Amino acid sequence: MSKPKIVVLGAGYAGMMTTKRLTQKLRPEEAELVLVNKHNYHYQTTWLHQVAAGTVNQNQARMMISDVINPNRVNLIYDEVVEVKKEENRVVLKNSEITYDYLVISLGFETNTFGIKGMEKNAFSITDIESSRMIREHIEYQFAKYSTAEKPNEDDLAILVGGGGFTGIEFVGELAEKVPELCKKYDIDRSKVRIINVEAAPRIMPGFDDELVAYAKRSLEDRGVEFREGAKINECKKNSFVIGDDNEEIKAGTIVWTGGVTGSSILSKSGFEITKGKVTVDGDMRAPGEENIFILGDCAWVMNEAEGKPFPPTAQAAMQHAETCSDNLKALLHHEPMKKFVFDDKGTVASLGETDAMGTVFNDNKLYGKPAVSMKKVVDNRYLFLLGGPKLILKKGKLRML
Ligand code: FAD
Ligand code: NAD
Repeated sequence: MSKPKIVVLGAGYAGMMTTKRLTQKLRPEEAELVLVNKHNYHYQTTWLHQVAAGTVNQNQARMMISDVINPNRVNLIYDEVVEVKKEENRVVLKNSEITYDYLVISLGFETNTFGIKGMEKNAFSITDIESSRMIREHIEYQFAKYSTAEKPNEDDLAILVGGGGFTGIEFVGELAEKVPELCKKYDIDRSKVRIINVEAAPRIMPGFDDELVAYAKRSLEDRGVEFREGAKINECKKNSFVIGDDNEEIKAGTIVWTGGVTGSSILSKSGFEITKGKVTVDGDMRAPGEENIFILGDCAWVMNEAEGKPFPPTAQAAMQHAETCSDNLKALLHHEPMKKFVFDDKGTVASLGETDAMGTVFNDNKLYGKPAVSMKKVVDNRYLFLLGGPKLILKKGKLRML
């Protein structure tokens, strides 16, 4: 009898951890494992703002999948998922197709511009290694252009970041550290460079702790970041945002949209029932009505029943989805009862560049400054440890503790 085939789509936090755990929880004769990903490398989405600012090299933020997932145990397919034909237990890829007995969909997020005029066309976004690398190169090009132009235009040096959620704030934090370095390299006065974050809500990081947000804002303003709060972006032109009720125009040479994300568009294309871009999964992480399909990470809404709303999509949650999913796949193969996903909230820490951070850990204890910076690095290194043990930390980890 042939072995059941488990296919995992997407090698991000959820897909990598699910695959890793399946290799540990199942014996080779129990199931055939397949991991499909667009690239032959896995990248740390949580480090992309650093790649985009140029404070972390793209090669530190990624690793070859075959270095952490044993290709003798898992069939690694590097191809793009186009559609899931769930009635036929089949996945259409760009260059081939694949059948499955059990499917795990962990294709991550896509940028959501909410139909804002010109945003998709004119703004960069931090979505993967390539898009982040392009931002870094574009910013550096603006500095190089300014330093050699006959009639330099200071607007070219300005960097506009649309959206003051965690991604936008962590990104301007990195820029606050990178800009002085670029100024030195290109002989440009720091005061000529503006870093401007625009947020529609009355304050940045809406919903997060007031005290921590005030700390973040002060820290960033001290390093030259400007904030425009309560300022909705109405339009993005080639070199500007149009904001607020009076349609004020702010010009810049670099425009980055960090104003929202949604689940992979493969979900709707494949006929799953969608709420705000994602599938609301059952307690066992399966898609409603689908016996053999699990949906994890940024593709899934997992309900926080106590609060009557879904948990926010984070890497922390995606990794925990992977634990439940791999346990439940094993249970299905062994004809045992499956378990319900329970979120273990370990807290939230946001970096404000290399030298500052803030957040909450374990039962809402607040951390600021160096302890928060160290905690953020511990979180990053913990993931590497779970994925590839101490060897991976030594190779890719953030080892310079403050
Ligand atoms: P991802 O990690 O995004 O992985 C998806 C994978 O699927 C990728 O490898 C992608 O290449 C692949 N893929 C996509 N489409 C296809 C396709 N069609 N075919 C084949 N492969 C495909 N969360 C935290 O908890 N802490 C943080 O500090 C934090 N920082 C963040 C910083 C930034 C800049 C951003 C953008 C997000 C951050 N988040 C953080 C959120 C976190 O990164 C996401 O919640 C997490 O990455 C979700 O994991 P995932 O496995 O669902 O998707
Ligand atoms: P988000 O949706 O959390 O934030 C987007 C921000 O853009 C919001 O504050 C929103 O008000 C603003 N916005 C939307 N439309 C706008 C407009 N027209 N004009 C101006 N502002 C507008 O998105 P994100 O920051 O990319 O975060 C996505 C997920 O990733 C979240 O769950 C977040 O918690 C997680 N994340 C976590 C960390 C961390 O834990 N350190 C870091 C980054 C991201």
